[in-house]
Amino acid sequence: MTTHLVWFRADLRVHDNLALAAACRSDNAQVKALFIATPAQWRQHNMAPRQAAYLSAHLNALRQALAEKGIPLIYREAADFTDSVQTVVDVCESEQVSHLFYNYQYEFNERQRDVAVEKALPNVACQGFDDSVMLAPGSVMTGNHEMYKVFTPFKNAFLRRLKEDLPQCVAAPHPREGVDVAPEPITLDYPQQDFDENLFPADEKSALARLRQFCQQQAAAYEQQRDFPAIEGTSRLSACLAIGALSPRQCLHRLLAEQPRALDGGPGSVWLNELIWREFYRHLMTYHPALCKHRPFIAWTDKVQWQENAGQLQAWQRGNTGYPIVDAAMRQLNATGWMHNRLRMITASFLVKDLLIDWRHGERYFMSQLIDGDFAANNGGWQWAASTGTDAAPYFRIFNPTTQGERFDADGAFIRHWLPELKKVPEKSVHQPWDWADKHGVKLDYPRPVVDHKQARTATLAAYEAARKA
Ligand code: FAD
Repeated sequence: MTTHLVWFRADLRVHDNLALAAACRSDNAQVKALFIATPAQWRQHNMAPRQAAYLSAHLNALRQALAEKGIPLIYREAADFTDSVQTVVDVCESEQVSHLFYNYQYEFNERQRDVAVEKALPNVACQGFDDSVMLAPGSVMTGNHEMYKVFTPFKNAFLRRLKEDLPQCVAAPHPREGVDVAPEPITLDYPQQDFDENLFPADEKSALARLRQFCQQQAAAYEQQRDFPAIEGTSRLSACLAIGALSPRQCLHRLLAEQPRALDGGPGSVWLNELIWREFYRHLMTYHPALCKHRPFIAWTDKVQWQENAGQLQAWQRGNTGYPIVDAAMRQLNATGWMHNRLRMITASFLVKDLLIDWRHGERYFMSQLIDGDFAANNGGWQWAASTGTDAAPYFRIFNPTTQGERFDADGAFIRHWLPELKKVPEKSVHQPWDWADKHGVKLDYPRPVVDHKQARTATLAAYEAARKA
């Protein structure tokens, strides 16, 4: 009997897992699974302890789900990618593996690692799959066979491809002869921080239930609700998608089952749009590997003279900038590991365009806190906000944090939730609490604005202009 090995990485699920399904296709093969933890690398990349706890919960749930299907999960630790390659080789040798199956990761170093693994295993048939995307990188290109640099034409081409040939989901494998004992729990050697299981589904079944509920009840109103952080108007499925507890194909099919006109601009189409942003950044990273080295997409923006200001960086990180919408957002991130998309845009813009701090500091800090940390989406989001990326906001478009707050949290419900020190400030003054406090002689236990937005805006425009002309 031959042995098939499935190497799990960021695809911690048994349903619609292309590598797992392919490994289980033949009844004549014995199937085993492998997961290699790389704590030293996670530290280097600042993985959030909440994301580690989330990964640990899903990894243990996966181990149980695989055991129920008769598939044992082998758990190993490796120091770095070279060590990971050797670990795969060792496991293939000791388990006498004939076929290795894995789902692609598109980050540059991960791709290099996979090339090295295949090279080191000349006698094992290796097969990779485009599983973490609806459409494979390279399959949505311009007429000149180039990767799109602008989102809207990419999205239009993407939708055309979906309509021509909808990618299908594959079923979870049938139970097979094999292990039937409950597996020992895996403990990751990495700092972990509790997450709220009501907000972030901790196993595959709950993730699928959340997806179904969102598509049935909220996807149609997503367009109207998605910009208001006080409303639960978005899916909160990003943490599942980041570690692969859900696939984008599952999202697509569930959406179309509940909102059949979503592919044609009907209800649900705006949510589909967001899933396509996720694909855009993954495709982009594949064609522009320099992004993986934190290089800006627009080269001249590397000449911007950023401020080194540890005090202001820390005020931003802790939610003490004196701009209520920014501070409430940062406190939501620090307390839960998640931040609403509108707020990610506002806080990122504030760090870069009001404090003139290098976007890479923000990218790194987000990674250190996010339960949904995802290299491509995070890098794409930061480069968008910093106007250094493809299809980014032009550098002269600078969010005003006060008016953003007034627009998207008009009655201050979100701000008041996260900044209890502003509870006594009247609704209409909550976006500029010091104006009200000074007028009424009230002392607030809340910082004054760290910068004046108007002056900061002028300085930032000058810094970008100078870089552009340099
Ligand atoms: P929904 O609104 O329900 O969207 C559904 C799914 O689409 C999300 O779960 C996510 O997988 C994807 N998605 C939505 N918006 C985007 C987007 N703009 N770019 C790429 N994918 C998107 N998303 C991450 O998953 N991980 C990150 O590390 C991350 N960092 C970000 C940093 C910045 C500065 C910005 C501006 C955005 C970032 N995003 C990131 C994108 C987005 O903010 C989150 O995906 C979204 O807020 C997650 O909430 P949700 O699951 O309720 O999203």
